[in-house]
Amino acid sequence: MGILSVTTLLTLGIGCGLLVGATFGLAKAYAVLGLLWLSTIGLPTSIGVAGVAALWGRFPPVAGMAGFCVVAAFAGLALQVLSFVAAWHGLRTWKRPIAVATWWRIAGAGAILLSLTTAGLWMTQPRPAYPADVIDGHAHLFGDSGWPPTHNMGCGLSPSQRANASYGVLSRLLGLPKSGNLDEAYIQALVTQVRGARRVIPGFRVVLLAQDSRYTAQGDPDWANSTVYVPNEHLFRVVEHYPDSFIPCPSINPQRRDSEAELAKCVAHGARVIKVHPPTQAVDPSDPRFRAFYQRCAQNGIRVMVHTGTEHSAPIASQRFGDPRLLELALSEGCTVVAAHSATRAFFDPPSEDHFRSLVDMMRSQPRLYGDTAVLGCLARWRCLPDILRSPAASARVLHGSDWPFPANALVFWNRLHPLTLLDLMAEKNLFLRDFRLKQALGLPPASFTLAADVLDVGRGATRVYGP
Ligand SMILES: [Zn+2]
Repeated sequence: MGILSVTTLLTLGIGCGLLVGATFGLAKAYAVLGLLWLSTIGLPTSIGVAGVAALWGRFPPVAGMAGFCVVAAFAGLALQVLSFVAAWHGLRTWKRPIAVATWWRIAGAGAILLSLTTAGLWMTQPRPAYPADVIDGHAHLFGDSGWPPTHNMGCGLSPSQRANASYGVLSRLLGLPKSGNLDEAYIQALVTQVRGARRVIPGFRVVLLAQDSRYTAQGDPDWANSTVYVPNEHLFRVVEHYPDSFIPCPSINPQRRDSEAELAKCVAHGARVIKVHPPTQAVDPSDPRFRAFYQRCAQNGIRVMVHTGTEHSAPIASQRFGDPRLLELALSEGCTVVAAHSATRAFFDPPSEDHFRSLVDMMRSQPRLYGDTAVLGCLARWRCLPDILRSPAASARVLHGSDWPFPANALVFWNRLHPLTLLDLMAEKNLFLRDFRLKQALGLPPASFTLAADVLDVGRGATRVYGP
């Protein structure tokens, strides 16, 4: 029993190690060794974990990340025990001794099989070409120059946001300093990766998002309940510095006292789209008090990007605000709306929080409603891109977006990728390229990679100059 627990623990450890490695970019040799273990000695545990993952979150009582980890580990152990018992029983009942020559024949056949498999994999690996233009329609600008920040001036991350698990992963991924001002280090990490992407896709551009705070009932900044703040002024400073790479997407919480004045300022800066994040900003987008704000957006041709679906990377007011049906008001006032993340959920979220079907139903009657693929290449969203690909209505209406710096993870799509493509993507360190190449390999429509040019009206190939 001891050796079985050790095998299962080792398999779980190697599996977790590969997931972390695929997040940070893992040398192919390590990935091959790890995957060989998972698909041979650790296969029963792998099947147990994958089987539980396939069922998790599909039925009402079966949800939650902690529950998944426990049940998946036990299912893996149970299968590992069963398979070892069966193998042990088989060996004991094997009567005839095996001659040395037979062992050599088995080894020779194995070597030939391995060579043929390797050659076959190499010959069948798809080698897709890079397009000249790609617009990543959803990437984040973050920063922190102290909390609470100065309104309309400085970026900030609250102590609770810095304590969130996502912060530790992202700051390691981008090599950010542990303390002090993050603004400059973040911009450098961002620009370095955009330049890396532009070396292979010359016309690669990124829609860069600011992040407004929460506001009190009177419309004043509510720092006590906010956790992330990136003012539009900071966004415009960055975009004006790198106009060939970035398209600005300022963020306006419609609850702020000066929401219409802020919108006018963004229009003057050349913005074509704004972002609202209902769960973190504690905003119900269907609140009739926002009608005039939406009307002003529509009059100015400003597209409204709204977070939809569940949110796990920051403290939130309510998952209820991720329901796309709350966007009816903005649509009825004539806005073009991008439902960021296509109203999807993580695989461990309860089924009641899955609004993807509602979004697809709405798309049938709302020609100005779009989705995006932001964060859908990440670890916990492995069901979402296949759902989009199965829906012609949705796949024709999604903008490509990475949600940079939230990292795509190819390992959770292992059964949909050519093994060598999987290794390539696990090794890719540029998060923009990893996300784009993953979605290209999974078969997202080529049009989705430039759809933002038309939907957000930011032009094709041309560089706009942004400024007041
Ligand atoms: Zn995002």
